[in-house]
Amino acid sequence: MTADPDCLFCKIVSGAIPSNRVYEDGDVIAFRDINPGAPTHILVVPRAHIVSIAEATEADAPLIAKLLLTASQIAASEHVDQRGYRLVINTGKDGGQSVFHLHVHLLAGRALAWPPG
Ligand code: AMP
Repeated sequence: MTADPDCLFCKIVSGAIPSNRVYEDGDVIAFRDINPGAPTHILVVPRAHIVSIAEATEADAPLIAKLLLTASQIAASEHVDQRGYRLVINTGKDGGQSVFHLHVHLLAGRALAWPPG
């Protein structure tokens, strides 16, 4: 999908808004969350503007798989894979989504409570 000029993460993807990038390739970028909820808090984001996982279609399946695998690879490169980590996709209002461009949170570096609040 084409970039949404009003979307914060589209602006981060384009570089119009700076971010602390830890990974990028032709499909996805990953950058540190500006308001971290754990010692390691990284967002993995498709370059394409997909509003949420609820809006993803069958055609997006390879990209969704890549988001998750990229998050796993970043966990390894950040050396949090041995202790463990959590991947989160907040979706919609009750899911706590605040930026409506699909993203996977990678949270790690402390024991994470369950269930989340
Ligand atoms: P969500 O609430 O699941 O939509 O997650 C959005 C995340 O984006 C939140 O954890 C925010 O702290 C984070 N965020 C918002 N603006 C920025 C920014 N400019 N750079 C990095 N992370 C951001």
